[in-house]
Amino acid sequence: MSDVIHLLPDAIANQIAAGEVVQRPASALKELLENAIDAGASKVQVLVKDAGKALIQVIDDGKGMSMTDARMSFERHATSKIKNSDDLFSIRTFGFRGEALASIAAVAQVEMKTRQKGEELGTIIQVEGSEVKKQEPAACPEGTCISMKNLFFNVPARRNFLKSNPVEMRHLVDEFQRVALSYPEIGFTMIQNDMELFNLSPGKLSQRIVGIFGKSYQGQLVACQEDSPHLNIKGYIGKPENAKKTRGEQYFFVNNRYIKSNYLHHAVTHAYEGLMSADMNPFYVLFLEIDPTHIDINVHPTKTEIKFDDERTVYAVIRSAVKQALGAHLVVPTLDFSMDVNFSENWNQDHSHSVEATKENTLGQDVVNRENAYKSFNSPGLKKQSVSGWEKLFEGAEAQQQKDSLSDIEKDEDNDILTFSSRANEQGQISPKNLEDRQVSGTTFQVELSYIVAQMSSGLLIIEQQTAHERILYERYIRQLSQASGASQQCLFPPHIQLSQSDFALVMDIKEELHSLGFVVVEFGKDTILIQGVPADIQVNNEKALFEGLLEQFKHFKSELSLDKRENLARSLARKSAIKKGIRLDPSEMEAIVGQLFSCQNPNYGLSGNKTFVKLDLQKIQGFFTK
Ligand code: ADP
Ligand code: MG
Repeated sequence: MSDVIHLLPDAIANQIAAGEVVQRPASALKELLENAIDAGASKVQVLVKDAGKALIQVIDDGKGMSMTDARMSFERHATSKIKNSDDLFSIRTFGFRGEALASIAAVAQVEMKTRQKGEELGTIIQVEGSEVKKQEPAACPEGTCISMKNLFFNVPARRNFLKSNPVEMRHLVDEFQRVALSYPEIGFTMIQNDMELFNLSPGKLSQRIVGIFGKSYQGQLVACQEDSPHLNIKGYIGKPENAKKTRGEQYFFVNNRYIKSNYLHHAVTHAYEGLMSADMNPFYVLFLEIDPTHIDINVHPTKTEIKFDDERTVYAVIRSAVKQALGAHLVVPTLDFSMDVNFSENWNQDHSHSVEATKENTLGQDVVNRENAYKSFNSPGLKKQSVSGWEKLFEGAEAQQQKDSLSDIEKDEDNDILTFSSRANEQGQISPKNLEDRQVSGTTFQVELSYIVAQMSSGLLIIEQQTAHERILYERYIRQLSQASGASQQCLFPPHIQLSQSDFALVMDIKEELHSLGFVVVEFGKDTILIQGVPADIQVNNEKALFEGLLEQFKHFKSELSLDKRENLARSLARKSAIKKGIRLDPSEMEAIVGQLFSCQNPNYGLSGNKTFVKLDLQKIQGFFTK
């Protein structure tokens, strides 16, 4: 019997391999762009005709190739990027398989012109269906220009399989954008049928994002950065209000390589929880930098999937980075109480009252303004009065305030809580009961018993009182839950509540957390509990109703949002105990809400993702009155 096994001719082997690498014009473009970047290009031009079916040309100003390398580059498994198997585990370049050019040349008509830096002459080489048609010296610019014509000219079945031009074009643009995003320091242009689609000059990532997605993204970006021992993250995320129902503007890059991961996408959206509804997708461009030995990028032929050896840590770091970015970088307007013209008058009118206010000093900002008041008090023309008494108090209060803010920061560091500033604003002191009569500034007032209007130097701030108060309380409760620091007030007549069996089990399950918030709940016979204490800072008329309301809310959130226990409790209690719309607030309460809101980690949004406030810029106001 004669032998039947023989080696396939190269052209056929390449064509088979090409099936993996070149599925459509976009996959060829990706390979060509990556080669240009690997070659150290600083400018890359892309020309496409007929959605890449007729032509894809990529021109770079990278290092170019020698005559021999130009010929070699079309051989399968020919690469300059790795030498041995060890290199496989520390890949920093895009390419390494040495398959791309061989595959492309197997299924298209390829012409390459290339000249190495410093060489006088370059090379031109033409390959068609793996066959070298021509190679000769040629005059050409430094770098490489490679044209891929008539993709699948020799594989009609696959050519027919290509989608319509708009679909293929969409894929080309997607690939182009991914590569352009990950190299903002490289200039890119893309021209389709003589029409310029992109012209991206080298710059910063934020500029590149705006260059690709448009000017409207300028105000939407929130910087995100995290350095951890395992991995570094940097990039931008979109503000929650700009999130979209559709997906498509979510980008992860691992060591500058675009990857897709539903798991990591979830880490990001999870961090937006409470800021937008669950079916929305925020914009993000996040770069993960990780030691290549901890990842395996070779699990998928087109390499958009990746394996991490510790995926959960990556998840946790991403989530925390995004959370922090959302909390720390969202724009916080600075309130300006110095605009208050009535302030010094008030001070003069009611001396002792203001000393009280100074001592309390819940808003750091107030210190400054009382100082202003003090100055105006001493200025000529004003009624002379002895100030020595309050001056001492003022200094003491200021020192105390600084001390408070320091200890506040330390406390926060222990608990991984990020605060906006060291304004030592005791979180949540605004239940009417706790409000001392603070200085009435006269700059805040209420509209429709629902909105607080506060004056700033740059305009007006309109705050939705209920949403804002819920945010304030929520953050306070989260803090209390993590520190088990909620103070309790004893109930004079501890009510007992008969519960269903399942509610009773539920209460027992969250008993400890309830305690952290200040509820003292004890078992009192079968499925019955006794409420001995409730949180000290909630004004309660009916402890039983408060507790039952809390339980209902908790159950509702549990089924609707599947939140974890603490998150749910903090939300539920905030919902139940916040000041509602339609409640009259006195000026000190309004100021307390405003001040405390902007001491929140995330003051911009309420618990359902609604805005807590809007700002009416002075410019806008002026605009109303100019033609
Ligand atoms: P890989 O990128 O995996 O090494 P390719 O088939 O894409 O494989 O390329 C083969 C080789 O050709 C590369 O290793 C590189 O040395 C060379 N090469 C390809 N494109 C360029 C380019 N634009 N500029 C310089 N060298 C290139
Ligand atoms: Mg390559």
